[in-house]
Amino acid sequence: MNQFQYARPSKPQAAIRAVAKDANAQFIAGGTNLVDLMKRGVMTPQKLVDINRLPLNKIERQNNGLRLGALALNSAVADDKLVRERQPLLVQALNAGASAQLRNMATVGGNMLQRTRCPYFYDTTMPCNKRAPGTGCGALEGINRMHAIFGFSDKCIAVHPSDMSVALVALDATVLVSGPQGDRRIPFADFHRLPGDTPQKDTNLERGELITAVDIPDAPFTRHVSYYKVRERASYAFALVSAAAALELDGNTIKAARLALGGVAHKPWRLTAAEQVLVGKPATEATFRQAAEVAMQGAKAFKYNEYKLKLAPNTLVQALKTATAA
Ligand code: SF4
Repeated sequence: MNQFQYARPSKPQAAIRAVAKDANAQFIAGGTNLVDLMKRGVMTPQKLVDINRLPLNKIERQNNGLRLGALALNSAVADDKLVRERQPLLVQALNAGASAQLRNMATVGGNMLQRTRCPYFYDTTMPCNKRAPGTGCGALEGINRMHAIFGFSDKCIAVHPSDMSVALVALDATVLVSGPQGDRRIPFADFHRLPGDTPQKDTNLERGELITAVDIPDAPFTRHVSYYKVRERASYAFALVSAAAALELDGNTIKAARLALGGVAHKPWRLTAAEQVLVGKPATEATFRQAAEVAMQGAKAFKYNEYKLKLAPNTLVQALKTATAA
């Protein structure tokens, strides 16, 4: 591992200043992804700004919804009474992620900022535009079975690995950030980026901007929910495909729907057109299949991930069936 400086400020503004003024500085919280990346030489920050002393770990009622502090642990959020009562979809998604040990270290903000698990990104002997812009994409003509079917570019076909973020984009969450220019709120759907020509940028955060919290509004579609994750083993594995479904039902009629897929794009993939298909329709498998067909419009596979073209709609239908039964 490269040598680096280490700072541990106790005030958010000091942390923001430290990262804003130094292009080689990086925030660190749980470190469950960043430390791995540093050990492998994939990321080589020259300064780590440890934010664990900042007062950002509360989980509370706020503005007709829940506010999750950026430093709240994934396990603490999943076990929190308020979250369990009000946002069971988020609980399901959190408990589907990583292992119990990792959830005890990983934070809300860190979960959102974790990097792709594309194997070429981790292998410093291979070309990767995300790790080293301009070197090419090893996955395009390589083993791309875990890669994107939506929203990719010829520069990068990686997927975002977070489960939690798939639930949060479906739940219309908002990200609160503080930075050198002040505070701002970013709709969760606009927080992560598609790769385009700049796959090295995963999010729309500016240098020095610190995630402080995530707001999840109360909504009538938070009772009938399901996070359905398909993976290669029962735990501690990233999604091949996952689906988040949240429904408001009036009897058997769907009044409102929120849908998103994971494991299919460079960002959690919200399915607004498919949501519209569901509204006003009976909650039947035939309706779910119609929505899944719309959800898959524009999908395109690479040599080794064609299976996702079938797996993704089937996963979405399964999530909708489970949500309806809930
Ligand atoms: Fe790198 Fe993205 Fe290509 Fe993977 S898919 S090798 S992360 S550029």
